[in-house]
Amino acid sequence: MKIATKLIHSGPTIDPQTGALGVPIYQISTYQQTSVDHFRKYDYARGDNPTREALEETIAALEGGARCLAFSSGMAAISTTLMIFSPGDHLVVCDDVYGGAYRVLSTIFSRMGISSTFVDATDLAAVESAIRPETKGLYLETPSNPLLKITDLRGAVGIARRHGIITLVDNTFMTPYLQRPLDLGCDIVLHSGTKFLNGHSDVICGFAVVNDTELGQRIRYIQNAFGTGLGPQDSFLTLRGVKTLKVRMDQSQLSTIRIAAWLKSHPRVTAVHYPGLAEHPGYAVHAGQADGPGAVFSFELDSFETTKHLLEGSKLAAFAVSLGGVESIISYPARMSHASVPAEERLRKGITDTLVRLSVGLEDPDDLIADLEQAMG
Ligand SMILES: *Cc1c(COP(=O)(O)O)cnc(C)c1O
Repeated sequence: MKIATKLIHSGPTIDPQTGALGVPIYQISTYQQTSVDHFRKYDYARGDNPTREALEETIAALEGGARCLAFSSGMAAISTTLMIFSPGDHLVVCDDVYGGAYRVLSTIFSRMGISSTFVDATDLAAVESAIRPETKGLYLETPSNPLLKITDLRGAVGIARRHGIITLVDNTFMTPYLQRPLDLGCDIVLHSGTKFLNGHSDVICGFAVVNDTELGQRIRYIQNAFGTGLGPQDSFLTLRGVKTLKVRMDQSQLSTIRIAAWLKSHPRVTAVHYPGLAEHPGYAVHAGQADGPGAVFSFELDSFETTKHLLEGSKLAAFAVSLGGVESIISYPARMSHASVPAEERLRKGITDTLVRLSVGLEDPDDLIADLEQAMG
């Protein structure tokens, strides 16, 4: 089955009780039991909810995984999943990882005795040399945020397997439509479903997807113990949103390719970071592991003045955090997604004060280009 069909027909799509073309919102916390010896499948909604379960089955099918768990946010998915590690364990993490992931690793998990080394994961030799005897996991994001750096996933998996450690990949920017890390040998795929998967900027949610059911059970145990699962209303909205993932992504990606090419020759733009451009250092690696460059990219402007004009002056692209919505969103990594990264560290990573990230929505690209042009002045 191809993805466009899978998006509509994966998971339980018809309600067996009524024939409704969709799973209803089970806005219920507890379930009546009839036997002291055997509880029904559902007992308390922190653990299981049929609407959440329908969404989990859908995302598992899209990623080609055996098990998916849906969480109350991308960060809930990431931090709950990281609880599979124990004090004394060490992680190797790509250095421009999502700011929130950097924050939990460097200020919370570090306090629990789980340490991390941040490396430039475009350099596999650097990844391998950061591995220590106590290293248990390799945490990657490709394309990374906000510089769209590319990590060779097959190469990274080869290293991880040689050292007997697991690979975790945040696949938020790509979605399973464009990249399926489990197929490349990765062990855990993480998502902020808030972005392209839901796609309508109206839900906060996250996912962890695995191939190994025992690993899935361990994450599920922590999810239930911590109570980080996704609520039924948000599960329903995300199920609705994901059905149009392919058409949204196709259109946004086409527009992004056009806008990135236009910006490249704009006199006020000094650099464009997009793996869809042939001169991007990760172009070939990305093309070998993903089905498209996606609909988010970043670019650098000639001055802070221009940056401020653009951010405050764009009328179509909302100046906001987040990405992956039907509406274009322009954001400022230095003060938004990466505000929790110390300034020195941020600059070292190349997240300058003139770097802007654009998530391209479903507006006409001609209108977006005209808007960016007027805002840059
Ligand atoms: C937004 C985002 C997250 C965090 O997800 P939330 O749903 O906001 O908690 C994690 N990773 C990436 C790449 C993101 O863009």
